[in-house]
Amino acid sequence: MKRARARRLERADKRHVWHPFTQMRDWERERAVIIERAKGNYLYDTDGYRYLDGVSSLWCNVHGHRVPELDRAVRRQLDRVAHSTFLGLSNVPAVELAERLARIAPRGLTRVFYADSGSAAVEIALKMAYQACQLRGLRDKKTFLRLTDAYHGDTIGSVSVGGIELFHEIFHPLLFKTYAVKGPYRYRDTYRGPESGYAEHCAMRVERILRRHHRKIAALVVEPLVQGAAGMLTHPRGYLRRLRQLTRKYGVYLIADEVATGFGRTGKMFACEREGVRPDFLCLAKGLTGGYLPLSATLTTEEVYRTFLGEYGEFKAFFHGHTYTANPLACAAALASLDVFERRGVIRGLDAKIGVLKAGLRTLAGLDHVGDTRQVGLMAGVELVRDKRTREPYPLTEKRGARVCLAARRQGVMLRPLGNVVVLLPPLSITAPELRRLLSVVERCIHEVTGER
Ligand SMILES: *Cc1c(COP(=O)(O)O)cnc(C)c1O
Repeated sequence: MKRARARRLERADKRHVWHPFTQMRDWERERAVIIERAKGNYLYDTDGYRYLDGVSSLWCNVHGHRVPELDRAVRRQLDRVAHSTFLGLSNVPAVELAERLARIAPRGLTRVFYADSGSAAVEIALKMAYQACQLRGLRDKKTFLRLTDAYHGDTIGSVSVGGIELFHEIFHPLLFKTYAVKGPYRYRDTYRGPESGYAEHCAMRVERILRRHHRKIAALVVEPLVQGAAGMLTHPRGYLRRLRQLTRKYGVYLIADEVATGFGRTGKMFACEREGVRPDFLCLAKGLTGGYLPLSATLTTEEVYRTFLGEYGEFKAFFHGHTYTANPLACAAALASLDVFERRGVIRGLDAKIGVLKAGLRTLAGLDHVGDTRQVGLMAGVELVRDKRTREPYPLTEKRGARVCLAARRQGVMLRPLGNVVVLLPPLSITAPELRRLLSVVERCIHEVTGER
C-alpha cells in the first residue's frame, strides 16, 4: 500500500476507532499496526512488514491464513446464500456442521445450539443449565460455581462466572452472585504437600462448597485443563476428572468452556478427551471456523434437550437467539476446517511441535526473570517476575509483558501478553523452524526487557 494511504488510515483509526481491551491514550500515541493481508502463519501490515502470527490472531486461527480449502468453501457458500435466519428456518451447512460436531465431540453431546461468540456460547450454557433445573422442579438452583481467575467472556453473564479482578472489578455491582472456589495455580499456591496430591487438594476445595451448597448450584463452569486468560494456569492431571465425579455426585451440571482449548489446541481435538470427561455442556467458539468467521456452538445432551420439550402453551422453549445464529458462511468455513483436520492429519502432527515448544520453554525457564513456564499442547505462558527467588511479581504498571511483545514486534513476531505473562499460542499449522524462531525471538526480547537491574 502507498505510504500516504497507510498514514491516512492510521489517522482515521485514531480519530474514529475504539479498540477492545486497549488504553486508547497509549494507542493514540503509539504507531498503529494495520493489517492489510495475511498468508499462512504470517500477517502483513499496510507498510508491507511481515509478522509471524504468534498468538493465532488472538487464539482463534488454526490452519493459518488464506487456507485454500477454507477460502474455497466460503466462496462457494457465497454463491448460494450469505445469511438467512435460523429462527424457525434451517440452512444446509449448519445442519451438516451440527451432525459433524456431534460426531467428534465427547460421546453423548448430541445437540448443537449456535451463536456468534465464545461469550454467547457460555451465556447460553448458563441459561440452559438454569432453565433445565427450573423445568425439573429444582427451583433453588439459581446460581453457579466458578473458579477464581476464570475467564468466560465479556458479556454480563459470562463476566459473572469469571474471576479476573483486573477485568471484572468495576462491573461487580452489575453481576449476579455466584460461589467461587480457588482454582489450581501451582506456582502461587500455599499448598506445600507432595506434587501428586495437588489435584486432590484442589478437588477437596470444590467438594467443600458442593457439599454445603449443591442445592443452590445449577452448574460448575470450568475451562478444562488450563485457565487461558488468567495467564495459562494449567491444572494438575486428574483435576478435571474429579470435577466431573463431584458434579455427578452432587447433582450439579458441568459446563466445559472449550472456547480456547477446543480444536486441537491441547494436542487432542477437545481438552475433555484428555481426561475422558463428558461434560453436560460444551462451549466452542474461537477455533471452530479455523479462525475465519465468528461462530460459536453450545453442545448438550439429549437428557437436557428433552427437559425443554412440551406443549406450545407450556412455554418451555429456550428463549434465546441471535440475528446471525448459525450463519451459513461461518458454518461452511467450520466444515472446511474440520475437513482440513482430517485430510492433513493435523492432530497427529501436533506431538512433534508440542515437543519443540516444550524444549524451548525449558530454555526460557532458565532466564533470570522467568518465574514459571506453563504449557498444554500449543498453549504456553511465560510468567515474568521481578525476583525469581521470592517470586515477587513485577508491578503491572511496568508493563513488562507488553514491552516484551513490543520488542518482538520489531523482530517480526506478533504477540499479545496477559499482564506479566508472555503468551505463546501459534496456529497449529506453525512449522518446527517457525516455532524455533518464535522461541528465540521471545528469549531475546525477555532478556532485553528484563536485563537491566
Ligand atoms: C476467548 C474466550 C471466551 C470469549 O470468547 P469471545 O468470542 O471473545 O466472546 C470465553 N471463554 C474462553 C475460555 C475464552 O478463551
